[in-house]
Amino acid sequence: MVAAYKIVEHDYDVVIVGAGGAGLRAALGMSAAGLKTACVSKVFPTRSHTVAAQGGIAASLSNLDDDDWRFHMYDTVKGSDWLGDQDAIEYMVRNAAAAVIELENFGVPFSRTEDGRIYQRPFGGHTGDYGERMVRRACAAADRTGHAILHTLYQQSLKHQTNFFIEYFALELLMDDEGACRGVVAWCLEDGSIHIFRAQTTVLATGGYGRVYYTCTSAYTCTGDGSAMALRAGIPLQDMEFVQFHPTGVYGAGCLISEGVRGEGGYLTNSEGERFMERYAPKAKDLASRDVVSRAMAMEIRAGKGVGPEKDYMLLHIEHLPAEIIRERLPGISETARIFAGVDTTKEPIPVCPTVHYNMGGIPTNYHAEVIRPTKDNPDAVVPGLMAIGEAACVSVHGANRLGCNSLLDLVVFGRSAALRAAETIKPNGRLPSLSKEITDKAIGTFDQLRAAKGDGKVGEVRVDMQKAMQSNCAVFRDDATLKEGKAKLEQVYTKAKDIGLSDQSLIWNTDLVDYLELRNLMGQAVATMHSAAERPESRGAHARDDFPERDDQNWMKHSLAYVDESGKATIAYRPVHYYTLSNDVSPFPPQKRVY
Ligand SMILES: Cc1cc2nc3c(=O)[nH]c(=O)nc-3n(C[C@H](O)[C@H](O)[C@H](O)COP(=O)(O)OP(=O)(O)OC[C@H]3O[C@@H](n4cnc5c(N)ncnc54)[C@H](O)[C@@H]3O)c2cc1C
Repeated sequence: MVAAYKIVEHDYDVVIVGAGGAGLRAALGMSAAGLKTACVSKVFPTRSHTVAAQGGIAASLSNLDDDDWRFHMYDTVKGSDWLGDQDAIEYMVRNAAAAVIELENFGVPFSRTEDGRIYQRPFGGHTGDYGERMVRRACAAADRTGHAILHTLYQQSLKHQTNFFIEYFALELLMDDEGACRGVVAWCLEDGSIHIFRAQTTVLATGGYGRVYYTCTSAYTCTGDGSAMALRAGIPLQDMEFVQFHPTGVYGAGCLISEGVRGEGGYLTNSEGERFMERYAPKAKDLASRDVVSRAMAMEIRAGKGVGPEKDYMLLHIEHLPAEIIRERLPGISETARIFAGVDTTKEPIPVCPTVHYNMGGIPTNYHAEVIRPTKDNPDAVVPGLMAIGEAACVSVHGANRLGCNSLLDLVVFGRSAALRAAETIKPNGRLPSLSKEITDKAIGTFDQLRAAKGDGKVGEVRVDMQKAMQSNCAVFRDDATLKEGKAKLEQVYTKAKDIGLSDQSLIWNTDLVDYLELRNLMGQAVATMHSAAERPESRGAHARDDFPERDDQNWMKHSLAYVDESGKATIAYRPVHYYTLSNDVSPFPPQKRVY
């Protein structure tokens, strides 16, 4: 049944869902190539989570230390614990320097060295000579790098006349009978109208799903909507068990304290005042990879060396750093520490604990940003008319663990790559394939059913049940028993969700309905994460199993694929890791033991 509200149809060459760093970089590239481009976003573009990125963007510019894209590639492969696709990683790091210079030309106000070049700071896992020495590779605009990049990209997209649809909530992909994507349906939050965007290519740039956990550094809006739409379209999500816990979220509040703090000389101590990272990572110490530092903190807490009445956090020190360094390079951090921990960083350490931060998993794509849905004969088969970029996608350049500053890089490199591919394959103002009314009616019909939900349950209660299950059963350390229990808890979440009722059934600024749609999207990804984790009996990157502490390359150097149906039933499959490079300038880096 289709209710009587305004339905508006739009025809575009491309429609991009998401106006974060990834969506905007694609938007400006596609618009500049002469394609009629729509960009749909549920929040105002400059409020996308990219705005919160602090530390920097990685590129081997060699402005301060001798660096090379091969060192960056080695670090990224090692950081990924050999789960990353090496062709995609090569593509990203080789394009990194040009991407940063391009951002500079677009107008990003990077911090500067004395002689006027882009300032670079050390970051976790950034090394020279293949792990031999630390290297300064993170290009930063103080501790507001994402803010600077996002505002600049938005202005550039406006300059190139991207058509923005702001505060439109994308609901469902329009998939035809052949399995090709023909566009997307969205709901305008301001007036309640429904919009059908038909396009030659649809790009999902909807960001991560951090909000599936109870405590995370991600914005309230990070609910993985695009990934959920892909799941409902029968596309699997890849490597969902790999969730990054950032070592330094403010204890109790979850807000991020950038790794840039440790890059500028900050360090961690336990309740005995010991700099414990020296034991876990003798070379890199506090600047080891994030999964390594988070695990070390969790182990110290388990050993009773946590700080505070509950012995459940660690201390991050910057009080020894000169005030002008903090003022110049980390201005936002002191403010965050003051507001959320009540700490004066010039005098006291900041209480921190590992906090959910980034999703390595997402919609599988190749390095052209085309979405992959494996078939029986082809693990790399492409879905016609559909692309995915940014944190929503899994290219996979981060594999089992992302290195700091590689996400902002991923956004701009693959946002650009998507634009190049679109310019190559799409004819401006080309004819759109026909789309049956049945398909659009079905998508709108589902929405009508959801907004008429009449049970006694509350969205907020079900959401908290889901978030607590993820937080306690799929955390830094996992084992068979906790994951089994987690799966059962999520089944109960699905049962409880059937009884949800909405307090408001209007279509205008209905936040209860938005929360409900987002919860539905999160639930599928919770199941994908829990089940993929339960079915990987090894430890790799961010996935640490107490019952299988070693990495098992023989059996498990492969991507997992999770299919989840509407009732929450999951099926897990696999596809091979790309263990090859694009050029002869570098050979794939063979698996090694991962020590820092
Ligand atoms: C606090 C914090 C600090 C970080 N610091 C760094 C750093 O220093 N360096 C680094 O490399 N990485 C960092 N990261 C990671 C990085 O910032 C993110 O991975 C990245 O910004 C994600 O960008 P995106 O474009 O994929 O998505 P986002 O920026 O999250 O944007 C998603 C977009 O999709 C839209 N959208 C979502 N759902 C819908 C829907 N249903 N309908 C319509 N529109 C929708 C939203 O409106 C938004 O515009 C940080 C992350 C956090 C949380």
